Amino acid sequence: MNGPQPKDEENDFVVFGQPQILDDEIEEVVACLRSGWIGTGPRVAQFERDFAAYKHVQHVAAVGSCSAALQLSLLAAGIEPGDEVITSALTFCSTINSIIHAGGLPVPADIDALTMNLDPGDVASRITAKTRALVPVHFAGRPCDMDALTAIATRHHLCIVEDCAHAIDAEYHGRSIGSIGDFGCFSFYATKNVTTGEGGMVMARRKEDTREVRTLALHGLDADAWQRFQGSGYKCYRAVRVGFKYNMTDLQAALGIHQLRRLPANQRRLQTIWSRYQEAFRSVPAGLPPEPGPDTRHSYHLFTLMIDEHSAIARDEFLEAMTRLGIGVGVHYPSVAEHPVYQERFGWRPEDWTVAHRVGRQTVSLPLSPKLTDAEVDRIVRAVYKVLRVT
Ligand SMILES: *Cc1c(COP(=O)(O)O)cnc(C)c1O
Repeated sequence: MNGPQPKDEENDFVVFGQPQILDDEIEEVVACLRSGWIGTGPRVAQFERDFAAYKHVQHVAAVGSCSAALQLSLLAAGIEPGDEVITSALTFCSTINSIIHAGGLPVPADIDALTMNLDPGDVASRITAKTRALVPVHFAGRPCDMDALTAIATRHHLCIVEDCAHAIDAEYHGRSIGSIGDFGCFSFYATKNVTTGEGGMVMARRKEDTREVRTLALHGLDADAWQRFQGSGYKCYRAVRVGFKYNMTDLQAALGIHQLRRLPANQRRLQTIWSRYQEAFRSVPAGLPPEPGPDTRHSYHLFTLMIDEHSAIARDEFLEAMTRLGIGVGVHYPSVAEHPVYQERFGWRPEDWTVAHRVGRQTVSLPLSPKLTDAEVDRIVRAVYKVLRVT
């Protein structure tokens, strides 16, 4: 069939994590295509400047994904083969993979049952003579307990690489998330609060660190070579590292420039939907996400329900029933020890991370996107009532 289909809000499938793409970014992508410069160029430079301004920081480097951002940050931090890197047992496998690809040994620590973020006490108990770095994940957009984690890092001379994939807009005690550790890594994947289709950003406290990330992200070429087409005459490039192909392109940045401008307005919409869910589900037999902590700003990336022993049905039945009602849902995440590849490689057993294991088996994420209409949000609420047999 050709042409736009009529919108049928009662029956259309509500896609989980649907991005909001408006005319501004569509026109920017077309302008980028017409400009003839589609690789890494002026639009990436502008997106970097805009991002740095938005986050009130100095040093940023755009890359191809948050996975690349994490890996390159750890490499720039000097992680060497066999170094242990502690991260959350409740995260996307990308966090673990990035540690492995950087040569490190991932060491999951358990989460706090209320916040779903790293439990600093459990982190402290897993430190050994080989621990070199912490990778806190600001789960769902809620900042980790950075005071406690920074104290541990200082005591043991550890580097902190923040996984900010959920938390672009978050703040902790007046500080922008990503700027508290040595590095902050952001994702612009399709479902994230700002999307470039695929993309990522590294933020670093020290200028030489983003310089190193830039070099590693573009074949290991020296920083001058990065700018070799920009004006001052052709310069022969030199590889100074065994680098990667992890650069962002102008086509991606064209999306990001406009997405970033709308972020404040989109965050307000996300907060409204989040609050509507909290209100609507106050007395349903399922666990609700924690409200934002004091003196912090939440990024409202995920709204999670815990389908537990008080609920009418099991978590996996909930997922199926919601999908049957036309509502896309997600699981963020099975605990990292549930993945066969890590069980085989590291001998992890899910029961060894008690809280992450339980949460990973109970959690479901409902759609939370600025694209959702009020009618769709109402439909999602009604579907949850129906599935959980709330009358
Ligand atoms: C999305 C995500 C990543 C990976 O981001 P990509 O840009 O897809 O590589 C890493 N960590 C967490 C917590 C994420 O949600």
